[in-house]
Amino acid sequence: MGRRVDVAVIGGSAAGLAGALQLARQRRSVIVVDDDSPRNAPAEHMHGYLGREGTPPAELRAIGRDEVRSYGGEVLTGRVLDVRREDDRLRVALTGGSSLLARRVLVATGITDELPDIPGLRERWGREVIHCPFCHGWEVRDRRVVQIATTPMGLHPTPLVRHLTDRLTVVVHDATGIDPDALRTLEASGVPVVDAAVRRIADTATDTATDTALGIELEDGTRLVADAILVGSRFHARVGMLAGVGLSATPHPSGLGETLTVDATGATAVPGVFAAGNVVDPSMQVLPSAANGSMVGAHIAFSLAHEDLAAGARPSAGEEDWDARYAEERMWSGNPNGTLIAEVSDLTPGRALDVGTGEGADALWLAEQGWTVTASDVSSRALRRLDEEAARRGVEVRTLHADANSIRPYGGERFDLVSLQYGSFPRTPEGRGLQSLLDAVAPGGTLLVVAHDLAWAQEEVDPAETTRMFDPEAFVGVARFIAALDADGGWRVDVHETRPRPAGAVSDHHVDDVVLRAVRVG
Ligand SMILES: Cc1cc2nc3c(=O)[nH]c(=O)nc-3n(C[C@H](O)[C@H](O)[C@H](O)COP(=O)(O)OP(=O)(O)OC[C@H]3O[C@@H](n4cnc5c(N)ncnc54)[C@H](O)[C@@H]3O)c2cc1C
Repeated sequence: MGRRVDVAVIGGSAAGLAGALQLARQRRSVIVVDDDSPRNAPAEHMHGYLGREGTPPAELRAIGRDEVRSYGGEVLTGRVLDVRREDDRLRVALTGGSSLLARRVLVATGITDELPDIPGLRERWGREVIHCPFCHGWEVRDRRVVQIATTPMGLHPTPLVRHLTDRLTVVVHDATGIDPDALRTLEASGVPVVDAAVRRIADTATDTATDTALGIELEDGTRLVADAILVGSRFHARVGMLAGVGLSATPHPSGLGETLTVDATGATAVPGVFAAGNVVDPSMQVLPSAANGSMVGAHIAFSLAHEDLAAGARPSAGEEDWDARYAEERMWSGNPNGTLIAEVSDLTPGRALDVGTGEGADALWLAEQGWTVTASDVSSRALRRLDEEAARRGVEVRTLHADANSIRPYGGERFDLVSLQYGSFPRTPEGRGLQSLLDAVAPGGTLLVVAHDLAWAQEEVDPAETTRMFDPEAFVGVARFIAALDADGGWRVDVHETRPRPAGAVSDHHVDDVVLRAVRVG
């Protein structure tokens, strides 16, 4: 399966989500793919983020995901394996065999931190073992801190930490390239400097014997006690998936790792591929990473808008994606949906609107039952197929090329039946599309919404194995219809239940339907 999208964002953390939010608000279709391994995953709280100080990192990401989804942007759990040019698009290959065909790619994959090879460091990383005075320095103020210097850049944060605590000791584990003058300056300022390799880190009882702290065991057997250990990491940009477009990371000026090189707009050397966040600059904390993602998202929006302007086009990514899906042979069975038949058979035929009609099996069946049918869809290709079938059967159905989220998609007309069968349209914050459907129901008319039961979407997937190709949270589902009917107050809900699909399960995931049938009484 290949879904067409304006922008594929690889990495759904600070940089990726901020970029996606900008793009979704520019009416660009955006799909974020994230394998849930952000750099700060071990940290319980995130510090230095104005407006969200101390928030758990996972909470910030959850808020960001919901903001992206509120504009119809999708956030998929999965992993990007490969990016390759394919005609005028970039094919983004995902675990599980599916792919995205994107006009632009935003790489926001961050970095991995490689810690010094000292036993006991890795398991304490992000808690007692820290690297960034701006992230954790306040939390260790006045505490016993041992810094283990392993690289020439190792002493870079030391003056900051010295200012936060007067109980700092520097252990020079590897003196290669470390400036002896800098060490002398530190000692002269009152910071003990120990020139010794570290053998391992272990828990140790403190002098009060009631508390445990960290024991830093040196090669000569001496043990230093600390509440926190400061180390520097080497970093590696997560860009393996870009080899197919000829992109790789280049050495960072610090000598501590590699990053992706970009220009001031976030563009890489490969047209259409942009990058933001730690993958281009490992020194960025969460707030600057989000700001950078936001800025690069805006530049991507400009680049798409200029391209469309030059082509004199105003393409709808939603229509392109659906048209591509309808490009092949007939997509659906051609049979009307069983739940539609069950719910509509007792209604007196009148005017019906079938939203998201696709190839129109439901619309044709309604027309054959005596309804005067308007069948709407975002895909003109699907509607052509419906017109052909209607002509073949000698049935009259009016087709309407409309996006549910546009203004007055149904021209202010009202219908005795508005039916949405397994249809989906993206969320907007004010619920424009949803309101248009409700507005289209005449007084005394029926709204019928049938959707797949999405209980499966709550199940966790292993991103290394598979990518879930649809994000229900980015679309208007039955729960949002119910909330809107409640808020409106002028409706009687006759049916709201989950029941087996009359046609049987389509797959393990599509066993049950959620059915909402309501009548406008107000
Ligand atoms: C232990 C620790 C604690 C920190 N504490 C703080 C703090 O308190 N305050 C602060 O401001 N900063 C802190 N930072 C820095 C912070 O982690 C970074 O600034 C921030 O994570 C950078 O955001 P990003 O979006 O660029 O990358 P990341 O947050 O690392 O996100 C990259 C995303 O890309 C995804 N990804 C990668 N490859 C793929 C792929 N192939 N397919 C799909 N998805 C992929 C990952 O799952 C991840 O979600 C800390 C860092 C560490 C290591």
